[in-house]
Amino acid sequence: MIDKTGKVDVLVIGGGNAALCAALMAREAGATVRLLEASPKDWRGGNSQHTRNIRCMHDAPQDVLTESYPEEEFWQDLYKVTGGVTDEDLARMVIRHSASCRTWMRKHGVHFQPSLSGTLHLSRTNAFFMGGGKALVNAYYRSAERLGVAIEYDAPVESLELDGGRFVAAISGGRRIEARACVLACGGFESNREWLRESWGQNDLGEWPGDNFLIRGTRFNTGTLLRFMMGCGADIIGDPSQSHCVAIDARAPLYDGGICTRIDCVSLGIVVNRQARRFYDEGEDFWPKRYAIWGRLVAQQPGQIAYSVIDAKAVGRFMPPVFPGIVAPTLEELAVKLQLSPETFTRTVADYNAACRPGTFDHTMLDDCATQGLTPPKTHWALPLDTPPFTAYPVRPGITFTYLGLKVDAQAAVHFGGRPSANLFAAGEIMAGNVLGRGYTAGVGMTIGTAFGRIAGARAAASIGKLHAAA
Ligand SMILES: Cc1cc2nc3c(=O)[nH]c(=O)nc-3n(C[C@H](O)[C@H](O)[C@H](O)COP(=O)(O)OP(=O)(O)OC[C@H]3O[C@@H](n4cnc5c(N)ncnc54)[C@H](O)[C@@H]3O)c2cc1C
Repeated sequence: MIDKTGKVDVLVIGGGNAALCAALMAREAGATVRLLEASPKDWRGGNSQHTRNIRCMHDAPQDVLTESYPEEEFWQDLYKVTGGVTDEDLARMVIRHSASCRTWMRKHGVHFQPSLSGTLHLSRTNAFFMGGGKALVNAYYRSAERLGVAIEYDAPVESLELDGGRFVAAISGGRRIEARACVLACGGFESNREWLRESWGQNDLGEWPGDNFLIRGTRFNTGTLLRFMMGCGADIIGDPSQSHCVAIDARAPLYDGGICTRIDCVSLGIVVNRQARRFYDEGEDFWPKRYAIWGRLVAQQPGQIAYSVIDAKAVGRFMPPVFPGIVAPTLEELAVKLQLSPETFTRTVADYNAACRPGTFDHTMLDDCATQGLTPPKTHWALPLDTPPFTAYPVRPGITFTYLGLKVDAQAAVHFGGRPSANLFAAGEIMAGNVLGRGYTAGVGMTIGTAFGRIAGARAAASIGKLHAAA
């Protein structure tokens, strides 16, 4: 497949969802393709191996997706969570792409299932991968191997050789790897702890919040090529401190804790900081639309730690995390176990309980159980914490992926000084900031990576004259 000079048509750098979509599309267009994955084979698939679902628009029920989720509603959801920090044209392109990509995904061995019980509110909007993200990336790798994509593991790329804005070669482990076109799909910089430290800076307490972040996914997304491209004058988009960052169990491992370390009971109780004080509306919106702001909120608290507290009424209403909760029969005893001031903690809970107005609790809708006269308020699902035993989960910021990235256009082309490169493209986390300036709505990471991965692969092949039938 690779010509006598060893030069391929399309080099794909990265080994997660976006890279695999790009490699498959380029190969389907008839290009010879080589894929360089930084990780060993056992750890292949980047953050994509940890995923569970993809957010998809649809105008009518579609196999595992119920009712409808029209373009406009998807767009409004995205607009709301990003606060408008998004590119509407690119976002709408991604959304439209999500209506049809699953047929192609199935062709490459991905199977879907209805939303899992406990993942509230997602059956209409998100298609779940049977076997999770690991099964998805394994299916794509199998398909890529079958189609003749040359795959190398343990192959981190350190730098690129560029000629103006044109890609010439990649440098990996001292080797120079030439190709006619290239797709960068090598993630964000979330695993680069020094860069996180630098981006978050020092707070008023003299702490470096970035030092206390846990990385939910792969250790291989160090942002090496993002930084290299910044140095080469590529156009950049996004704020280095913006990311998908959720509250995860403080006991989670530094890398690859995955989905089971997430704490999903925030909206069912209250969250207090190390000073035993609440700091944000726990019931602001449905959990899938809001969970991704909680990592950032916890990062802004002293010590970058907080405690999600529920009572017995909430047990069974959320996906239980992998670590057991810290349980106590009274609020005082719970405070002692958490090393919080019992006086402040019990006062915080008493104030909250007294502010809860009677309503009809319904966790499947924005119900009318809200606090009155409390700062910060809890605007939905506010039930008093009055039924022992009480349970707490310590939470820390768990970073999923960063939003600083390469500026691209609808062809996924990397830009230099406002001009698109003729043969260098980007997909996935490394460019997600074009669509996600901040915030997050569940499943949109895979929507962006799949749309741009497929476009980047097709455009890379087209840049050397190989046209994909579907492009
Ligand atoms: C725990 C967890 C759960 C998630 N759940 C969901 C979900 O359900 N739905 C959803 O939409 N999103 C989810 N996400 C986010 C999702 O993982 C990302 O949006 C998406 O996978 C990004 O795909 P990607 O291909 O850009 O990055 P990745 O899948 O991270 O792939 C990047 C690849 O690049 C490789 N790499 C990095 N640097 C180099 C280099 N220099 N040279 C060569 N290779 C390199 C890495 O090894 C990796 O294989 C989740 C993330 C995590 C961590």
